[in-house]
Amino acid sequence: MTKVIDGKAFAANVRAQVAAHVARLREEQGIQPGLAVVLVGEDPASQVYVRNKHASTIEVGMASFEHRLSADTREADLLALIAALNADPKVHGILVQLPLPKHLNSDLVINAIDPAKDVDGFHISNVGLLGTGQKSMVPCTPLGCLMMLRDHHGSLAGLNAVVVGRSNIVGKPMAQLLLGDSCTVTIAHSRTKDLAEVCKRADILVAAVGRPEMITGDMVKPGATVIDVGINRIERDGKAKLVGDVHYESAAKVAGAITPVPGGVGPMTIACLLANTLTACCRANSLPEPEGLTA
Ligand code: NDP
Repeated sequence: MTKVIDGKAFAANVRAQVAAHVARLREEQGIQPGLAVVLVGEDPASQVYVRNKHASTIEVGMASFEHRLSADTREADLLALIAALNADPKVHGILVQLPLPKHLNSDLVINAIDPAKDVDGFHISNVGLLGTGQKSMVPCTPLGCLMMLRDHHGSLAGLNAVVVGRSNIVGKPMAQLLLGDSCTVTIAHSRTKDLAEVCKRADILVAAVGRPEMITGDMVKPGATVIDVGINRIERDGKAKLVGDVHYESAAKVAGAITPVPGGVGPMTIACLLANTLTACCRANSLPEPEGLTA
């Protein structure tokens, strides 16, 4: 029987753990974790993400600081805001919603965030710390995938993991995390030869490609765990539909466990953002970190 990994329920559980920890922090230490989200411009998808992040932050008892800037904001003004947030003791996590308008240098902006407050884990220092197996802030989506994998497998040591996709926000950090848990890791990408054969060797197959239903059942090893990071909006039979990078119907027949889209990896991303903010707050106050919510 294939297990369907319920990311929605898993994320609800993570949020509940975060909320309980936040309540204790507030009661026992008088500390409230705070997350600042910076949105530049009016990108509709980004506005929805920022709204959801705000609501989720409030829901777990954290303070939410929203900064909405116009699309023509000058880089110097954005950097000044980040400097102010870096210095603000009420702010433990800072997230700059990407993509930024084209006239702004995303790398420069992200690297201006205090690495200890970089809850997206995109700062070059955190990338380096993760790559060298040191304590870092870990990008939210791969962290969510890792939590679900650990929950399903217990130990991941010695398993063959294949990550399809090598982006800085998903593929590469995912591969680093799996390596950190002692998997034998292969990273596949658009130039990989015989992708099907590479995927078929995987005990753990993570798809982060951005191509609707590209990974089909015949590419999956029987009994493998399939984590579908993809979010693709397509039209089928005249209706809008959300599908992953994995062809769910065929892959689910072969896999031992699989995440659906929607309701798999997606809900874990915001849950891990909250977990990272809590972790950042605990580290800032030299308090024990929440168990099971970090890499
Ligand atoms: P990117 O476009 O940045 O990266 C895609 C990767 O897939 C690239 O490394 C690319 O290879 C590789 N790729 C493209 N085509 C092929 C192919 N035919 N065969 C093998 N590899 C291929 O995407 P992201 O990593 O940002 O996102 C991936 C997916 O995850 C998207 O659907 C996105 O929407 C989703 N996503 C979901 C999140 C969530 O919360 N669930 C969060 C973030 C992303 P190359 O480097 O050679 O070009």
